[in-house]
Amino acid sequence: MCYPRVEINLAKIRNNTLKLVEMCNENNIDVVGVTKVFCGKPKIVREMVKGGIRVIGDSRIENLKKLKRFKLPKLLLRLPMISEVEQVVQYADISLNSEIETIRRLSKEAKKRNLRHKIILMVDLGDLREGIFDEEEIFETVEIIISLDNIDLIGIGTNLTCYGGILPEKSNLQHLLTLKETIRKKYKLNLKVVSGGNSSSLHLIEAGDMPKGINQLRLGESIVLGRETAYGNTIEDTYQDAMTLQCEIIELQDKPSVPIGTIGMDAFGNVPSFNDKGIRKRAICAIGRQDVDPTDILPGDKNIEIIGSSSDHLILDVTDSNENYTVGSILRFSLKYGSVLSLFTSEYVKKIYV
Ligand SMILES: *Cc1c(COP(=O)(O)O)cnc(C)c1O
Repeated sequence: MCYPRVEINLAKIRNNTLKLVEMCNENNIDVVGVTKVFCGKPKIVREMVKGGIRVIGDSRIENLKKLKRFKLPKLLLRLPMISEVEQVVQYADISLNSEIETIRRLSKEAKKRNLRHKIILMVDLGDLREGIFDEEEIFETVEIIISLDNIDLIGIGTNLTCYGGILPEKSNLQHLLTLKETIRKKYKLNLKVVSGGNSSSLHLIEAGDMPKGINQLRLGESIVLGRETAYGNTIEDTYQDAMTLQCEIIELQDKPSVPIGTIGMDAFGNVPSFNDKGIRKRAICAIGRQDVDPTDILPGDKNIEIIGSSSDHLILDVTDSNENYTVGSILRFSLKYGSVLSLFTSEYVKKIYV
């Protein structure tokens, strides 16, 4: 028995994938299963594959490398670094791109290796993360790409809600379809893929507002946590607890709620402030900020309050709990996107599959 641990329920991951794939397929949308939140762990990817994803997507080439043995096409989600183009053409079949210089390098490298590399050109619809913003520049780039050796321009795509918090709507996604149409007319090029975003685009399907012609979504969080991310609503017939965190109590003592002495800065350079609630029963769990941001986890026991954490310690107020915790007790937490990401990245947290 090793703690802290993330427990991954593989059947629930498969179920969530099946539901989302079904929902998307009914709308003629293929699902890219995004694996970066869980560092591309092959056991979890296998469940996504059984659940019917069509493409494996990850932002890190290291993860795609680990997934070489899966037969599905691999999509690199983060714009390639020029310094990694060799590995990109080797381990990714498709990459999202917005920089012509990078695409030129990919072309050179693909030619050298005598293989073809596929490109989805990213368009910035206003969220202001990646993608070409200027419309004229989009067409200029398309024109150059189609002249390059060993490169296939297979589609256009966009990413929303990630930086600017801009929601996918009928109107902005419709713009992608207009671009596709213009490219078809101007260059006699029928782009196969129109990639309409991430888990924040699902609400459009649920509302019946997804523009016809958007035929790919790249889904990570919704598969793992069973929620769409535009409004944070749960998705019908999916599980929100396919992954949970468990950690162990290493100290359980009654203490005042306000520290004693002169308050300076805490371990992270902040000056903390405290409410005096008198003497409280406090538990310390063996997990810290090195593994997870305490605001990204929720105690399964609703009567527990997280009151702080340092690099290796999570401090909880358990006074109001009806449970009889002791030193060595295991506490369970539910997860959010940020905590899944960091818990999987931390090598101090064990991953247990059930
Ligand atoms: C992370 C990522 C996704 C998946 O986002 P979710 O919100 O987890 O569905 C899709 N596309 C790109 C470009 C990404 O970086």
